[in-house]
Amino acid sequence: MSKNTQPSGANDLDAVIIGAGFSGLYQLHCLRDQLGLRARVLEAGHGVGGTWFWNRYPGARCDSESHSYMYYFSKELVDEWEWSERYPQQPEILRYLNYVADRFALRSDIQLNTRVESARFEPGQQRWIVTTQQGDRFTARFLITAVGCLSSANIPNIPGLSEFSGKWVHTGQWPHEGVDFSGQRVGVIGTGSTGIQAIPVIAEQAAHLTVFQRTANYSIPARNAPLTTEFKQYAKQNSEEIRHVMNSNTNAHPFRIAQRQAAQTAAAQRQAIYEAAWQKGGLQFRATFDDLLLDEAANSTAADFIRKKIRATVSDPVKADILSDIDHPFAAKRPPIDSFYFETYNRSNVDLIDLRATPIERITERGIQTSTGEVVLDVIVFATGFDAMTGSLLKIQIEGKDGRTLKDEWRSGPRTYLGLQTPGFPNLFTITGPGSPSVLCNLPPAIEQHVNWITACIDHMRRHDLRQIEASEDASAAWVEQVNAAANATLLAKVKHSWYLGANVPGKPQVFMPYAGGFARYIDICNQVVANGYKGFQLSR
Ligand SMILES: Cc1cc2nc3c(=O)[nH]c(=O)nc-3n(C[C@H](O)[C@H](O)[C@H](O)COP(=O)(O)OP(=O)(O)OC[C@H]3O[C@@H](n4cnc5c(N)ncnc54)[C@H](O)[C@@H]3O)c2cc1C
Repeated sequence: MSKNTQPSGANDLDAVIIGAGFSGLYQLHCLRDQLGLRARVLEAGHGVGGTWFWNRYPGARCDSESHSYMYYFSKELVDEWEWSERYPQQPEILRYLNYVADRFALRSDIQLNTRVESARFEPGQQRWIVTTQQGDRFTARFLITAVGCLSSANIPNIPGLSEFSGKWVHTGQWPHEGVDFSGQRVGVIGTGSTGIQAIPVIAEQAAHLTVFQRTANYSIPARNAPLTTEFKQYAKQNSEEIRHVMNSNTNAHPFRIAQRQAAQTAAAQRQAIYEAAWQKGGLQFRATFDDLLLDEAANSTAADFIRKKIRATVSDPVKADILSDIDHPFAAKRPPIDSFYFETYNRSNVDLIDLRATPIERITERGIQTSTGEVVLDVIVFATGFDAMTGSLLKIQIEGKDGRTLKDEWRSGPRTYLGLQTPGFPNLFTITGPGSPSVLCNLPPAIEQHVNWITACIDHMRRHDLRQIEASEDASAAWVEQVNAAANATLLAKVKHSWYLGANVPGKPQVFMPYAGGFARYIDICNQVVANGYKGFQLSR
């Protein structure tokens, strides 16, 4: 039991952790097994795994390469686990996270089927009072949200949905029994990362597929393949080096961004570099030059290359026009990778509707009515993404020390210090919160870094008999400025319809949420804050 808390009952804990995905599992392991704290994870789902518990749509897999999409905190775990493919599918990642839960005996401290409804900081006791939908009540010195950046499904408010006589599903809340598309007329709304993964697989199963595209998107072939024995050996033998590369670059991927500029490279050579990256496949395409997200002219060389590839792949010129009419710089929105996405539009059972030319007017009993006619459907799939970064946090009624809610505090957009804390909310930590690199990264290293920071901070507090930590107003205001400046230095902030900005959710404040200054720089800043005695935080007894 920790020195600075006095639990009196089973529900009086040192820490409550909300969410049992990558973040919550590792946070529990650290607090319980490293610090010896009484910690419990509360998870809404009936299983662990977070993203990979919920997103069971056909084609669901990660875009990060398998040897980077895993924990690195335990060398034994790295050595024991074996991935089968370059990009593992959802069931394999879910198996991995269940393996971790068993391997570290985490399940006894995870309460499933438990949705946290509210959390209130009690200043007198310096404890959080946490209540769940079922009416459970917990108290804890620390409250740690591990609720995920992409875990609150965004279902667009299209009139008529309740009248639809067929079936409709959101990819992020996929039915566990699956959806049988055979013989069905299916409509997919959305062509972001998820739609691009699901569309080729649904097209193979359905009688007919209509894709409703609002925003055309770039996509790079993933070139997925089974991992060779040699690669598996390489990944295990070089795990420390791989970890070092991930922690010392911009996006926490296991490859470095080439130190050269597209704008300074001769056209023929640039073309050859892009072609080689295209053949290799995956997110490394974005790492071919280091000015792609800084300089519009440089970016357009990559964008033009991809547009030409789309045109060369899609045989119907009308579809090719719609797919390549992309309105934003390459990788300024989350860059998808795919397995035969553009090729899918050559199938005779696939239609494409450009919603910018012919918008959806309503959903009818029989299907979707656009401005030019009704598309009759048996199933509608919403691949419309998430209320990203703040959605799941703000669904919880979180009340700080002055009775103000997080929702009130963030009314004009999230305000945090390092994405880790918000002034007015002592002892509340947000793993991969807004203002941290989060969704701009390969997330497992970002999650490990946050969890390690939080764990070390709580350990520091215990050793110094400190009961409360709170981000200062000044430090948070300065950090928000840094987050804005980092985004404004790139092309990321120039895209209007980006979920990084909250633009996909009506009424959401339009603020660039992740820290775009790079993962390595962010780690450095967090370490400096600690070295300077937790500068910007107020620590008290
Ligand atoms: C389809 C898809 C593909 C992705 N691919 C990649 C990829 O290739 N690379 C990458 O780096 N990232 C990817 N991501 C991002 C992914 O979310 C993270 O990599 C990672 O899984 C996040 O882990 P987490 O534990 O922080 O959050 P999550 O996995 O989202 O887990 C959060 C958990 O919190 C629970 N929760 C939320 N609110 C409450 C509440 N009020 N009470 C109780 N429980 C609650 C949820 O039920 C959920 O189980 C992808 C996301 C999606 C949706």
